[in-house]
Amino acid sequence: MILIVDDTPENLISLKKVLEKHDFEVDTASSGEEALKKVLKNEYVLIILDVQMPGMDGFEVAEAISGYSKAKETAIIFLSAVNTELKFITKGYSSGGLDYITKPVDMGILLLKVKTFYRIYEQSRKLIEIQKALLDEIEFRKQAEYKKDEFISIASHELKTPLTSVKGYIQLLERSIDKGDVATIKRHLQKAQVQLGKLNDLIADLLDVSKIESGKLKFNKQLFSIDELLKNIIEIMHQANPEFTITQVGHVSELVYADEARIEQVIINFLTNAIKYAPGTSEVKIHVKLENERLYVGVRDYGIGIGAEQQKSVFEKFYRVEETALHFQGLGIGLYISAEIIRRHGGEVGVLSSLGEGSEFFFSIPLRSSEEID
Ligand code: ADP
Repeated sequence: MILIVDDTPENLISLKKVLEKHDFEVDTASSGEEALKKVLKNEYVLIILDVQMPGMDGFEVAEAISGYSKAKETAIIFLSAVNTELKFITKGYSSGGLDYITKPVDMGILLLKVKTFYRIYEQSRKLIEIQKALLDEIEFRKQAEYKKDEFISIASHELKTPLTSVKGYIQLLERSIDKGDVATIKRHLQKAQVQLGKLNDLIADLLDVSKIESGKLKFNKQLFSIDELLKNIIEIMHQANPEFTITQVGHVSELVYADEARIEQVIINFLTNAIKYAPGTSEVKIHVKLENERLYVGVRDYGIGIGAEQQKSVFEKFYRVEETALHFQGLGIGLYISAEIIRRHGGEVGVLSSLGEGSEFFFSIPLRSSEEID
């Protein structure tokens, strides 16, 4: 928008008319004081400023405007009766563009100047936008790089821990074999196997992440009973965590059309977290129901819970709640994989939680979705 400042109403009207005829949006002020008020309130690309006005003259207005951050990019064209020296005009005004026209105003020249200033304004606005986008991109990449480095360091550590245990058990096994102590051999073998299982799960998760990234995560959908699946999962989880009571609340007798192994992976992930992030508790509930032809499964724990701010990020890749990351081992990819599996089934994941009161991680998927989702 252009602001014309002139104390002579006829000048204001005629300038306004000409500019509006050329599709410029125009505002007017009949004194320096009024102009300053308007500049504070609105944003102008250009101010056409009469130099000789009673009260504040044009130079004083320009000088005052130069202090406003809002008018930093605003250009000024002075209208003066005499051919004023530019260096005199520029006193105090150095932000936006500056020019002058002598009176009586040659409308052709004024229009040329206005158009030039508009073009410069548009170009610099675009440059500022590009610069901002570039800075955002650099910041985003820096963050991603940092997260990746951090992830590699955590992942190496997580992989090394079970590996070191397996190495230890193998050394112990050697000794037990020399002694012919079969009972101890069996015990060590079992322990080594548990650690190998952990290693296997970690590598499987890492492979899943890479499959997701390269679009190679494939699904093998078939009809299965969610009640049967939950029964098996609860049995396995209970064996590994006998101190926990895991109860199924609700039943769905209809068959579900989905990738059973992948849905099992999601539920086990929710349950593992429900147990891991709830030290000192002993109860987990699995809510199951059918809602508008969609299967709902929610895993409720009574553990540490998650603050509202962090809830937004828990399904992001590599995200771990900072306040608790030190106390619990993990890679921050389980929920990311789960969310992707559910999304690819045309479903939704979510969490309801409050700090210190536990969480319910849930998903819902269409009971029979045959369409492929990328
Ligand atoms: P990991 O557990 O390996 O860190 P996840 O992707 O499974 O990775 O979980 C991401 C983060 O979400 C965890 O680091 C933890 O901070 C938080 N979280 C997940 N499940 C729970 C839960 N049941 N209760 C509290 N916090 C949880």
